[in-house]
Order: sequence, then structure tokens, then C-alpha cells
Amino acid sequence: KPSNRPANTNLLEGLVIQSFGRRFRVETADGIFGCVTRGKKTDVACGDKVLIQKTALDEGVIEEILPRASLLYRQDEWRSKTIAANVSQILIVTAGVPSCHEAMLNRCILAAEVNHLPVTILVNKMDLSESQAVFESLSSFQALGYNVVPISAKQDVSPILALLKGHTSVLVGQSGMGKSTLVNALIPEAAARTGEISEALDSGKHTTTFATLYHLDEESQLIDSPGMQEFGLHHIDSRDIAGMFPEFRPYLGECRFHNCWHKVEPGCAIEAANADGKISDSRLAFYRLLIAERNIK
Ligand code: GDP
Ligand code: ZN
Repeated sequence: KPSNRPANTNLLEGLVIQSFGRRFRVETADGIFGCVTRGKKTDVACGDKVLIQKTALDEGVIEEILPRASLLYRQDEWRSKTIAANVSQILIVTAGVPSCHEAMLNRCILAAEVNHLPVTILVNKMDLSESQAVFESLSSFQALGYNVVPISAKQDVSPILALLKGHTSVLVGQSGMGKSTLVNALIPEAAARTGEISEALDSGKHTTTFATLYHLDEESQLIDSPGMQEFGLHHIDSRDIAGMFPEFRPYLGECRFHNCWHKVEPGCAIEAANADGKISDSRLAFYRLLIAERNIK
């Protein structure tokens, strides 16, 4: 495929380890470069593999994004922005306090399904009875094939280390669930940065694009985006949504109408599976909410 950049053999391959507004830090064999993107291209994400052109000793321009194995978007009022690329698993942090919103879990799981990524729900604060109750209630997610793991970030993060091994993981969670406690316990470098980041978040300038990739060891990375509570789902085709519910899959194609939205259509196999107890009320309601949000009549 012809490229509009001048033929150049000096391009350096690198990994985007931080995004901050429209600035990026890119790790290469020649060290770390502070980079901008060419033109108005802003969809570079933390975890992207890129080709950069050096412009100074430690500065460069991102010329090209290499093909991505996965891409996650950040929830944004206006549109979805890319936040993490080439992630191999999603970790959702939840707890009993503050109260856990099942819709948030469902949305994060959908973002994982689009990318064919495994999901682990970490139930934090297991020292509290509220979290123990949430852990039990999430057995329904376990039954759908999602990993549910009890933890106490304040006491012991070692059970999580095994989960992270060999993966590029991304952490997401409602505020207050203990995501920063967890990241700070896993990565001392992140703890040192917390002040700096909250200052940037307070100024309100960079909240939509800030993310950092931390190396845990040679084969394990963790991407954290402070304040990120959900992934954007705008880019998903409405027709693909039902197939992202694993428990719907056996029944899809059995509806009377091949273009059934599984709302109120006669002969809907999803509705019938719900009546039979094979699909839960809450998951069907969540599916219908997503469809309704898209104004599908
Ligand atoms: P974030 O908003 O998700 O980053 O949450 P924080 O890490 O700031 O934690 C929110 C609150 O939960 C803080 O007061 C933490 O001390 C507390 N917290 C974090 N982990 C645990 C835990 O394992 N047990 C208990 N009881 N509290 C925790
Ligand atoms: Zn149907």
C-alpha cells in the first residue's frame, strides 16, 4: 500500500507507554521519546506499536500505527476516543462499597466481547461483608464464563500477580472501588505519580486521554487510565450486539424473523429462552437498553 510519507529508512519502531492529551511517550530500543502525531491524527492509544521519526535527541513524530490486536475506546460525551491498544485481557475492579452497578459490568464485558478478550471481575474489599455479598451475586457472571476473583487490595495483591502474568491487562472500574489502591500496590512507580496525575485530573484538561502502560516484568504489562470507569461502545454495529451475549448465541437464528431485534417481535427465540429461564431478566433488559439507546424502533 503506498504511503504519503517520504520513503525513509530511519523510522524507529516503538511502544506507546503514555498518552497525555495529544502528547505521547514512546519506548524504543534507542530510549524513550516524547512524541506528537502527524497532522490531526489523534487516535493513537497507549499500548500501540508505532513507527516514529526522530526529530530531536528525545523527541519524535508518530508516523504510523502498526496493526492492532485489540482496541478499546474510552467513554466520551461526544464520541469515543481510543484509550488502549493490543490489550490481551480486561480486569474490572468492583466491590460492595460503594454499590456496584451491574450495568457498568455489562458494558465493560461488551467491550471485551467485541475484541474477543477474556474478562476478569475483581471483587475488591473482601474484608467487608458488602463485598462478600457482591461476590456471591456475581456467580451469574461466572456462569456466563467470566472469571470472578475475590481480592483485598489493601491487604494482599499477590493473587493478582498470577492473573497478570504474560498479559497486557487494562484496569477499569467505578470510582471508589479501589483501582488506584491496587495499581499503587502493584507498581511503586505509579504510587509516586499519583499526585501528579490527580493534579492533571483536577485541572480537567486531560481526563479524556490520559493513560499509562507499566511494565510488570518482561512479559506482563498493565495499562491504567485514572478515572476511566467504562469503555465507549459507540463504534459497535447495532446488529452485532446480540451476538456479544454468550448466553444468546444458541438461540440466535431461531427467531421467526431473520432481522429480529429481540424487542417485542412475535416468535422471538431470545424472548422464549428468557421465559424458559435460560437468559436472565437483567441481561435481557440490559440488551434492550442498549438497543433502545440507539433509537431502534
Ligand atoms: P479508586 O477510585 O477506584 O481508585 O479507589 P481508591 O483506590 O482510591 O480506593 C477507594 C477507597 O477504598 C479508599 O479509601 C481505599 O483505602 C479503600 N480500599 C481500597 N482497597 C480496599 C480493601 O481491600 N478493603 C477496604 N476495606 N478498603 C479498601
Ligand atoms: Zn428475536
